[in-house]
Amino acid sequence: MIANEEPVIANSLWSATANPTPDCPPLRGAEETEVAIVGGGFTGLSAALHLAEAGIPVTLLEAETPGWGASGRNGGQVNPGLKEDPDAIEARFGPEMGARMVRLCGEAADLVFSLIRRHQIDCAGQQPGWIQPIHSEKARKTVTARVEQWARRGAPLRMLSKTETADLLGTDAYLAGMIDERGGNLHPLNYALGLAWAAQKAGARLHGQSRVTGMEQQGAGYRLTTAQGSLTARRVLLCTNGYTDGLVPGLARSVVPIRSVQVATAPLSDNIRRSILPGGHSASDSRQLLLYFRLDPEGRFVMGGRGDYSERGTQAQMERLRAASIDMYPQLEQADWAHAWGGFVAMTADHYPHLNRIGPGVVAAVGYNGRGVAMATAMGKVLADWARGTPEAELDYPVTDLRPINLHFLRRPAVSALLAWYRLRDRFAF
Ligand SMILES: Cc1cc2nc3c(=O)[nH]c(=O)nc-3n(C[C@H](O)[C@H](O)[C@H](O)COP(=O)(O)OP(=O)(O)OC[C@H]3O[C@@H](n4cnc5c(N)ncnc54)[C@H](O)[C@@H]3O)c2cc1C
Repeated sequence: MIANEEPVIANSLWSATANPTPDCPPLRGAEETEVAIVGGGFTGLSAALHLAEAGIPVTLLEAETPGWGASGRNGGQVNPGLKEDPDAIEARFGPEMGARMVRLCGEAADLVFSLIRRHQIDCAGQQPGWIQPIHSEKARKTVTARVEQWARRGAPLRMLSKTETADLLGTDAYLAGMIDERGGNLHPLNYALGLAWAAQKAGARLHGQSRVTGMEQQGAGYRLTTAQGSLTARRVLLCTNGYTDGLVPGLARSVVPIRSVQVATAPLSDNIRRSILPGGHSASDSRQLLLYFRLDPEGRFVMGGRGDYSERGTQAQMERLRAASIDMYPQLEQADWAHAWGGFVAMTADHYPHLNRIGPGVVAAVGYNGRGVAMATAMGKVLADWARGTPEAELDYPVTDLRPINLHFLRRPAVSALLAWYRLRDRFAF
């Protein structure tokens, strides 16, 4: 179970099968460091690891334990790229910065798997590729353009026929698909815990149960306060994503947290297991409200999709995911659904992650729009570059001013209306 979480979204497969958590005592008394990191998910842990490896004193403060947020709860699908495709990224950000961003997000999955190998992280990481099954003719056009644009840049993506897609998925529920061979999957919580162990080993200090409740400028740096201690630092990295609280005015209003939920079976029999995604791929489909699914290493089927803010709505959504799984794989009819859990993803108005300038010596990285296993790891490396003094213009991601979303207080009804609209579009494929 996920500690300190609402019961309806706490029964996580990943928590039930987690490796030991490194010792991360709460911050007590007054400490000093060069770089302070707030938030211990992939973003903060990757930044801590890259800084510690560069010999920079770094201390990370996490409100709960490493990987407690989205990083320890997600689908474990390591998908390269951003929501927009390379041509659109380069058109929006210009040929130079755009090309750097395309390289960063295109290589982000490789970064994850190279960290796993280098630090021998025990998280069942494998890179057989990510499949995007196509649900409509309109989506076929979008996915075909995606494949063409990445292939033009030398990336290993290709379209799959209906038969190839059905063979790789074990269901003929889709019109066709594409495979991106850079992608893969892993046990997300064990990946986060492995990053935490590696960061500590490299010299980073990690404190759990240390929610930062205050941040004030002090001399050339900042003083962060927690319930039992304080930390002064020259630079601060805010890595709180969908769990951003009121610590920094405006930051929480720059993202819309949306619940994503998953359900998982108990380990399946060998026969059934061999009939679903037999090549070990993970899949996330082309719908607006996408379904994402895979097996875990012990042969549990895991299905994810959008959640809801209320307990009843969340339960209903979990039931829909079980029904969608059985529609696709009737052999799951008798399966024992042992786990159901969820967490917050952070959406942004432009669908891009934001690397925001908060003040002198303070930046925040938030808003992976539900695709952060690879990208948050890559962004952590960019944050480490920034904290080491790399000029903004030379970073691989643009640093922008904080832009709170207008009428943010209306986010819940707005999200509900948008989800209803997307559901219609997905159902009638327009
Ligand atoms: C159910 C679900 C499924 C998903 N599936 C996928 C997937 O398959 N593939 C993919 O690429 N992405 C997926 N995502 C998205 C991905 O998990 C996130 O983009 C990524 O984990 C973000 O990492 P992060 O480190 O930025 O934030 P998080 O992991 O959310 O970490 C933020 C941390 O900040 C801490 N915090 C907040 N405020 C404070 C404070 N004041 N002081 C101290 N600590 C604080 C929180 O406790 C939290 O641990 C999914 C997300 C969810 C919820």
